[in-house]
This record gives sequence, structure tokens and C-alpha cells, in this order.
Amino acid sequence: MARAIFALLVTAALSACASRAPAPPPPAAAVPQNLGFLACQQGLNGTGAMFEALTPMTTPNGCGFTEGVRITAVPSPLNQPVVISCPTALAMARFDLDVLQPAAMQHFGKRVAKIHHVGGYTCRGIAGTRKWSQHAFGNAIDVIGFDLTDGTRILVSRDWRARGARANFLHDVARGACQVFRVVLTPAYDKAHHDHFHLDTGPDRLCGI
Ligand SMILES: [Zn+2]
Repeated sequence: MARAIFALLVTAALSACASRAPAPPPPAAAVPQNLGFLACQQGLNGTGAMFEALTPMTTPNGCGFTEGVRITAVPSPLNQPVVISCPTALAMARFDLDVLQPAAMQHFGKRVAKIHHVGGYTCRGIAGTRKWSQHAFGNAIDVIGFDLTDGTRILVSRDWRARGARANFLHDVARGACQVFRVVLTPAYDKAHHDHFHLDTGPDRLCGI
């Protein structure tokens, strides 16, 4: 029964996404168990993000998610689709709209046209520890760079330690990301992050910029 209701909700969310119209009210009986996920999806729809809701998923060793989405635009297009939790997707949308775009306009007079990432949900631990990475729950995404509308590509690996507008842009973006995400790890944090920003909405709080 729950699965059938969920399928209905997913269908509703998908059709709302495709048309970019506000999501229709869910069936009353289904509201209590899915309120958080539905509210999140409605929030995402409001940003212009393109996504599909996923059924809950867990692995035998404890990875997985209950509110996952497969998202292709946040609303800026991603270089490839990513599976992340809906709250993380919503944080990406805020990051895009409130941090990335204003910073790109300020530094380049251009908009960001594409966000490059190298992964969201992955069932793995944090290297060198016995702790699960927030990637294991879909609460994290690794961003490696950005394309502007004129084709300029800005890469964390190349431009973070450079001088000039690209580096200033990346540092401003990282600072802004700390206002949106709970954990932000950059090349300034450790060598493992020399080429990407780790952005997560997990329980910890760390602005590693
Ligand atoms: Zn990461």
C-alpha cells in the first residue's frame, strides 16, 4: 500500500517537474508519511530544478537514502546527472541561485552555465577513518568546476591557488557555500580536496575554506 502511494506521489512529482508547474496537492492519506519529502520536492520545483524522485533505498551495510532524487539541473545544468538527497539538492539550488550566479556576475559579468561534479551518492567511508562519508547517505556532492556562459571554464584544481578573478571567484563561492551547506571542504582543508569542493548537508558543521 505504502509503495503504491509512493509511486503515485512520484508520478505526481515527475509530472509537476516536467511541466514546471507547482506540484498538485498529494492524496490526503499519504501526507503524514511523506510530508518532508514532498515539501522538499515542491521547494525544488520552485527553483526550476530538473529532477526525478527516487524510491527509498538501503544497502545491507547501512548506506542509502529515504528522500533521494536524481537531478540534472539545480537549476543550472550539471555536467552529468547525480543522485543526492532532496535536502542536498535544495541546498545546491540555493547555492546556484544565491551564491554562484551573483559571484559570477560580480567577477566576470557572466552567468554560470554549467556545474561540473564528480559524484553524489556513493556507498563508502571517509578515507583513513571508520566513519561513513555523507556520500553514503546522499548528503554530499563533489564539485570540481564551473562553465560560464561564454565558455570560460573555472576549475578548483587549477584556479584555487592561482591569482586573479578565477581564484577570487572560487574563494567567494566557497565562503558562500558555507552559508548554505553544513560542511564545505576545499583545497585549503586537506590534500584529499585539492581538486574539488565537498559540499554536504550532514549533521557535522565545518567550513573548511
Ligand atoms: Zn565529497
